[in-house]
Amino acid sequence: MRIIVTGGAGFIGSHLCERLLKEGNEVLVIDNFVTGDRKNTDILARHAGFRLIEADICEPLKEDLSSCEAIYHLASPASPVDYREIPLQTLWVNAAGTKNMLDLAARSGMKILLASTSEVYGDPLEHPQKETYFGNVNTLGERSCYDEGKRFAESMAVNYRKQFGMPVKIARIFNTYGPRMRKHDGRVIPEFITKALGGEPLQVHGDGGQTRSFCYVDDMIDGLTALMNSPENFTGPVNIGNPEEVTIRQLAEIIMEKTGSESRIIYTDKPQDDPLQRCPDIALAKRVLGFEPKIGLDEGLQKAIDYFRT
Ligand code: NAD
Ligand code: UDP
Repeated sequence: MRIIVTGGAGFIGSHLCERLLKEGNEVLVIDNFVTGDRKNTDILARHAGFRLIEADICEPLKEDLSSCEAIYHLASPASPVDYREIPLQTLWVNAAGTKNMLDLAARSGMKILLASTSEVYGDPLEHPQKETYFGNVNTLGERSCYDEGKRFAESMAVNYRKQFGMPVKIARIFNTYGPRMRKHDGRVIPEFITKALGGEPLQVHGDGGQTRSFCYVDDMIDGLTALMNSPENFTGPVNIGNPEEVTIRQLAEIIMEKTGSESRIIYTDKPQDDPLQRCPDIALAKRVLGFEPKIGLDEGLQKAIDYFRT
């Protein structure tokens, strides 16, 4: 198959491309490197079927891509540190960028998968989160550029499906981690591992009682590819993640122990609207996609630590 991956120079995108290339597909990445990494596309360029278009997907595409059969649409800043720095670009890539990709898919008869997020649930009042929960989002808060951008993108995707009858898939991705995250992208796992290995204090926001459920990237790629290959009439949205839930304080302690670090843990202010709890209900993904995460936090963190050590 010929497959487009927007955001393929990023963390999840580069793992996805690698999987698709190894399966014998041709992969065309569109990325403007706003949060991506050239090291990732250098690795992908070793495969014969890989091609890179360096472009902002918010702009009209210059190339004729109509011979492609599917789009994985992942382009968007994803770390709170990143999207707080470029809130307008974050809103815009999820609005104009998503519209451009949906138009391309509609025109050329391609399947399209939208990478949405657990952030559509905001600071959830229902726990664990099922796809039927509408969420609790502050439309004006520091995270709103991302949360509302993704909510708009989801709405656009289902309405393209409704109006044009095209195959659309929506993945609600929960916190994902693993090799190739940027050391300083600000997300908690690379942040804690880098600080623990460097002997610097780990900064826990608030009292560290907030929870997250972390999915190892290989499992995430299993879920995304299963969703793309699911029956044509299945749109979702579907939660993809690992329901193993930990507090951020526990996470800091586990990483300290696993790295053998002598760093200190310090407590700082909790950012605005930082969700207090997050855990996916993955019953739908299990039933429809046969999705089952295989790599637990203990094993996955060890792989991530080994990566950051080198
Ligand atoms: P990332 O920042 O590593 O990758 C995003 C990629 O998109 C980067 O390569 C960036 O350069 C590219 N990009 C951004 N704006 C662009 C634009 N206008 N034009 C072209 N390329 C652009 O992030 P990630 O963690 O790999 O996340 C990938 C997707 O998964 C995102 O859509 C994100 O919202 C979603 N997601 C990720 C997580 C997670 O925990 N990693 C959780 C929920 C949802
Ligand atoms: N966090 C933290 N210290 C850090 C980075 C993050 O305590 O150095 C907290 C953050 O406030 C949040 C959790 O860890 O409660 C997960 O943060 P991350 O940015 O990885 O993802 P998200 O908030 O989007 O789930």
